[in-house]
This record gives sequence, C-alpha cells and structure tokens, in this order.
Amino acid sequence: SAIALLGPAEIRALAERAGVRPTKTLGQNFLLDAGTVRKIVRQADVRAGERVVEVGPGLGSLTLGLLEAGADVVAVEIDPVLATLLPETVAAHVPGLTVGDATQDDVSRTVVLRDGDGRARLTVVTQDALTVTALPGEPPSALVANLPYNVSVPVLLTFLERFGSLERGLVMVQAEVADRLAAPPGSRTYGVPSVKAAWYAAARRTATVGRAVFWPAPNVDSALVRLDRREPPTTTVARTEVFAVVDAAFAQRRKMLRSALAGLAGSSSAAEAAVRAAGLDPQARGEQVDVAGFARIAEALGLARP
Ligand code: SAM
Repeated sequence: SAIALLGPAEIRALAERAGVRPTKTLGQNFLLDAGTVRKIVRQADVRAGERVVEVGPGLGSLTLGLLEAGADVVAVEIDPVLATLLPETVAAHVPGLTVGDATQDDVSRTVVLRDGDGRARLTVVTQDALTVTALPGEPPSALVANLPYNVSVPVLLTFLERFGSLERGLVMVQAEVADRLAAPPGSRTYGVPSVKAAWYAAARRTATVGRAVFWPAPNVDSALVRLDRREPPTTTVARTEVFAVVDAAFAQRRKMLRSALAGLAGSSSAAEAAVRAAGLDPQARGEQVDVAGFARIAEALGLARP
C-alpha cells in the first residue's frame, strides 16, 4: 500500500496551519525527506504487522513511513499541539483509518486509529517519554525514532531498560552521540553512553544524515544507530550498581581506576584490590574497560545484589 510521505512543502503547510513553531528545547527538527524516512525504516528491518514504538513523532514524517511498511505504531509525543495534529495527518494519508475518541488519565492522553478490521494501527500517547512506564496494547518489538537531541541517550536507555520486549532499535541522533553509542572500549569516543548501551544491546553506526533534510536545519549532522538486544553480562550485582561504577570511572576522565573508584570503594587501596580481583590493571582508565569488566569490578566491590 503506497502512502504519500511528507515532503518540504507539506511539512511547512502543516506547521503553518497548526501554528507549530519548532522549539530547540524540545529538539524539534522535522524530517523533510522521504528517502531518509525509508532508509530508517529499511535499516530497522520493520516487518508488516510488527508493533513499533516511536518517540517524538512530531509532524508524522517517520510515523507514515512505519505505517507504510505495515507496522502498528505507538507514538509518544510530549508536545500536545503535535500530538493532537498527528491523528488528522495520518488519517489524511493512510486510507481506511478511523480516529477514535481520546482517553485521558492523570499522566497522558491517548488516541487510537483503527483500520476497517478494528486493528489499532496507530496509538498516539501525549506524554514525556522519560516518564512512560507502560505502553498501551501489545508490547513493541522495535524502537524506531528520530530522537529529540537533548534527551536522546536517556530516552534510549530508559526504553531499553523498561521495555524488555524491544529486540532492536534504529534511532537517529547527533552524529557525535552516534559515535559514542557505538564506540568500542579503547576508542577515543568510548564513555558512559557506550558502556550503558552495551549493557542492553550491540550498537552500530549505520549512516550519516546531513542537516539539510530537516526543517529547521540543526547545527550539526545526524547519524543512524542500529541496536540489537543482547543479554547483559552475567553478574550477581544489580544493574544500577554496575552503572554507579561506570559513572564513577568516567567522572574524571583522566583518572586511573584505583583513584576514580576510591570514593565508591571507601579507599584507593580497596578500589585497587577490587580492580585487581576483576582481572584488570588498577592503573587502567575507564576508557579501556568493557561492560563485563565493569560488572566484575562492581561484584568485587561487594555492591548490592538486585
Ligand atoms: N519524528 C519526527 C521527524 O522525524 O520529523 C520529529 C523528530 S524531532 C527530532 C523530535 C520530536 O520529539 C519532536 O516532535 C519533539 O516534540 C519530541 N520530543 C521532545 N522531547 C520529548 C520527550 N521528552 N518525550 C516525547 N517526545 C519528545
């Protein structure tokens, strides 16, 4: 089923009609290019009938691409103006969808668009994605999103943590953030986002996206990151404890592990002993340790179990 995706003229017309003025604080840069939308959908390996969650649907550029591929979409949008406009836009582009009544609770407003068989093709939730603890309907198997820049890493990590049904993701983020997410230990851009993403998934940067395909054009280039869920390292300690070690290890980038972890361990000699017990060199720095290594350090520090 061919669906007309949004191009520059229609994006502008939609924004003008609804009085949308894109804001930087909400990272509102809308995709103008159907080719980029289809590339994202293709790299996400979206299957017909699959349930996909999109964070920040905006004016609906990517949402329409996901629907075109046959996915059923649950879209979480913080901006009530955009969230209200989206069902109309989608109903105008995808034949046979009916917009249901809105339901409202304390934290969110939800609208469902159904096809002729009563199947929910699009569910729009008006809410800050960082506060979403449950999603309506069947659990999604993929996260596909052009993420708002200011909160891209927290949104990604929160969704991977909260929604264990997510088996893969394809997200657009700032190019520099993409490098961090996909960085292997020992590389220049390896840091906290790299280790934390690696807890949940294997991440790879798959494409660069120039700024010209957005309205308004951002100041930096973007990139696509593909994530494939994998098992976290086997460990007896809680994930939050491992992440506390990661945060401490990178808090002062140039520090050796034995001094960076002294606070957590109680002393630098206790930190040194734990790092050694984890099979690592206490003179090493956080940049050289993989996620399994951080889990071993947390365990050796005797941090709390889940
Ligand atoms: N998906 C659209 C596209 O590709 O054209 C818009 C992407 S735009 C980069 C980011 C979107 O995320 C905006 O619609 C913005 O309002 C929304 N947003 C920003 N912060 C959010 C949050 N905390 N939770 C949910 N949506 C958010």
